[in-house]
Amino acid sequence: MTYQIIGVGNNAKTIKGDGSEYVTAIRYLKPFKTVYNGKVHNLCALAEKAQCHVGCLNTAGRGAMNAVQRGRERKTMWMLSDPIGFYDALNADITTFIRRQRKQGIQPCIRLGGTDDKGDAIKLAPHYPDAQFYDYTKVVKRAYQDLPKNYHITLSYSEADMDYANQVHQAVLDTGVNMAVVFRDKLPATFRGLRVIDGDKDDLRFLDPKGVVVGLKAKGKAKRDDTGFVIDPNWTLPDGTVWSDRMMRHKYPDILGNV
Ligand code: SF4
Repeated sequence: MTYQIIGVGNNAKTIKGDGSEYVTAIRYLKPFKTVYNGKVHNLCALAEKAQCHVGCLNTAGRGAMNAVQRGRERKTMWMLSDPIGFYDALNADITTFIRRQRKQGIQPCIRLGGTDDKGDAIKLAPHYPDAQFYDYTKVVKRAYQDLPKNYHITLSYSEADMDYANQVHQAVLDTGVNMAVVFRDKLPATFRGLRVIDGDKDDLRFLDPKGVVVGLKAKGKAKRDDTGFVIDPNWTLPDGTVWSDRMMRHKYPDILGNV
């Protein structure tokens, strides 16, 4: 039986983590601007604020293929038009996936927000204590919430809005949650006073140490992003702290010119 909603082994980064210990299943939906019943539906509440829809991973890798985009749109329309049928199918997928992995002694991992920020794993994860759920999210308040034990989040950083960027950074300091930062070319050793780890090695975010920057290199359309979602960490302050071009311009607009 193939899965109706989740996919296994169709993401280059999760494949790196897939092996004898962990296998990840991901759900991909259409993140932005699905028109249903005359209304526009966005599954990522903060995408415009963070401007991440411009360089969203939705269009990177396999997401660049029309057939893949059509599949994501079809699933999103299914969820909007028939939520009970959609969640019944999703629950059936999850149950089968967990059973198959457990049979082989493998830890099943589930990332529902492959290309959305709905956060519905918060409600689903407690029903499947045998699986490890995880997501990247732009919803900062989730870092302060009491989340299910088997649900891990990594906040997703963006400087498209400096207040948002500072809230994410503060949440790392307050709660020990990690923040994922997309860097243009190469990863710095530290950013904003936090150690940077290589998040491209695998996708097993729940194994990361706490309070770090999960550094990712820009891919697909994101390589040309100039919204503030992709970071250029070009400034090292006298105390050794690494800042981005945008942070410097935000702080010293008279000298450097504002963005
Ligand atoms: S929140 Fe994630 S999935 Fe949604 S638009 Fe932004 S980058 Fe894409």
